[in-house]
Amino acid sequence: MLKLPGLIDLHVHFREPGATHKEDWDTGTSAALAGGFTMVLAMPNTQPPIFDAETLDLALNAAKRKARCDYGQYVGAGPDNADVVAALADKAAALKMYLDMTFGELRLDDMILWMPHFQKYPKEYPIVVHSESRSMAAAILFAAIYDRPVHIAHISLREEVLLIKAAKEKGIKVTCEVCPHHLFLTQPSPSGRGQGEGEKPRIDGRFEVRPRLATQKDMDALWENLDVIDCFATDHAPHTLEEKDSDNPPPGFPGLETALPLLFTAVEGGRLTIEALIQRMHTNPKRIFSLPDQPETWIEVDENASYEIKASEQFTRCGWTPFEGWKVKGKVRKVVLRGKTAFEDGKIMVQPGYGENIRK
Ligand SMILES: [Zn+2]
Repeated sequence: MLKLPGLIDLHVHFREPGATHKEDWDTGTSAALAGGFTMVLAMPNTQPPIFDAETLDLALNAAKRKARCDYGQYVGAGPDNADVVAALADKAAALKMYLDMTFGELRLDDMILWMPHFQKYPKEYPIVVHSESRSMAAAILFAAIYDRPVHIAHISLREEVLLIKAAKEKGIKVTCEVCPHHLFLTQPSPSGRGQGEGEKPRIDGRFEVRPRLATQKDMDALWENLDVIDCFATDHAPHTLEEKDSDNPPPGFPGLETALPLLFTAVEGGRLTIEALIQRMHTNPKRIFSLPDQPETWIEVDENASYEIKASEQFTRCGWTPFEGWKVKGKVRKVVLRGKTAFEDGKIMVQPGYGENIRK
């Protein structure tokens, strides 16, 4: 049995408030524990989004009642809430900015709206940006101009990892994360699904995710530049199968229960070391986000267990995984969180409400 520190996932979507038929703080944190995560940071694009004191309380109250592992909640940057979110910084995981989205309360239509957030959000916490390709380059320029830490969420492209490498060499305060699905899946060829007379072939809804699955060349570049990648984060973004198989499939994959076995299998295959895995799933997230210690906390992984990933054995409410049937090695047997066994042999052992807010 391999003993590892409790894993930290910087990037999860728990859908509460607003869409608890997909996931909530109870099922989401159960999935986290089953996946070996003892701490998760939840994104703010819920319904309503978390972007002021009232909505932050709404999310934190739900988490307080229902979370089974430790947690933090991001606040979201909107067009006119820079002072409000900066004042909430000590209660929030960090600030999330959606630079490539143009809808809802978290829209940031132009760079004028980015400026006050970069000026005002306290520099002891990073600003996390969803920014792809050229908008990522703009975010890095903002990090340099305002001389403050910026963390780039879910990079997926060769050009992105190479630009971050160059920015780090210049001393710009930029860090980044990669999701397991961008390390193990490439864009599928258009399937025949939905292909009728005069209809365009389309990509199966189950493969819809943002950033999109990239090419083999992009995926190879991520593996070749692992030293540039600070963190692995799941971007756990559950939607039901009915939604994924609909005519308008929402983007996103569940990921909490597949991340460790996929990455551990890469360790077994010699593509990654266990030390590099611990750095990216515990040490670096903790340092970059100034996260607290979790005393008497560890996980035990059976490194010899070989098995197939099955959605039917998962705790996430969404009921599916893009990795169904994948053969993996390494199974989480036990999770001890703050002195208490929280998960053992497929069973959650702690009640809703056991989880603690990581920002007091
Ligand atoms: Zn996300």
